Amino acid sequence: MRKILALAALAVGLVTGCTSLRDARGPSEICEVHHTLMNTVEVPGPHGSTQLDRDYVETGTRLFPHCYPDYPPDQRHRLVIYVCNDCARLQRDWKRTHQTTVPAYPSR
Ligand SMILES: [Zn+2]
Repeated sequence: MRKILALAALAVGLVTGCTSLRDARGPSEICEVHHTLMNTVEVPGPHGSTQLDRDYVETGTRLFPHCYPDYPPDQRHRLVIYVCNDCARLQRDWKRTHQTTVPAYPSR
């Protein structure tokens, strides 16, 4: 019976892909820039890193620190993060006006 249960657990793990989930939310659920309550969002974890435009990183750090991540996604690893609606809107606006400098990885 134990062998059957172990095989069933292994089969479920293989079918589902053995994903891991890590809580990467910060200590506060309030955006320090916009002073609004943020949403808890689950996103893919990073698969390697990417070199981002310096101006984008500096602007993002000051104006939209709680937005969607910009790295190649790894579907086997998931993160729970806080996303601020105002930060996400500013991130979209910045990307729309600077389309050639930031990669467009699907992170949602
Ligand atoms: Zn914000």
